[in-house]
Amino acid sequence: MAEKFFCKWCGASYSSVASLTASSCSRNPEGKKHALYEGSVKSQYTCKYCGAKFSSLNSLTASPCLKSPHKKHHPAL
Ligand SMILES: [Zn+2]
Ligand SMILES: [Zn+2]
Repeated sequence: MAEKFFCKWCGASYSSVASLTASSCSRNPEGKKHALYEGSVKSQYTCKYCGAKFSSLNSLTASPCLKSPHKKHHPAL
C-alpha cells in the first residue's frame, strides 16, 4: 500500500512529505505551505477544539469551528 501524507490544514494528500511541504496551502493560517498532519490515518477525524467528527480531513478542515483560534476545525492527533 502506498503511503500517503496529509496536510493538517486542508487535508490535501501527497505521496511524500517533501512535495507536501513544497506546495502552497490556501488554509494554513500560520504560513503559505501545507504542513504535515502527524496523526494516524483514521476512518473518523475529530476536531481537537470542539470534538466534532468528520469522515475526512478535507471536510473537517473546510468547516467553521466556533472554538478554534483560526475559525476552522483542526484535527486531533
Ligand atoms: Zn494544506
Ligand atoms: Zn472544531
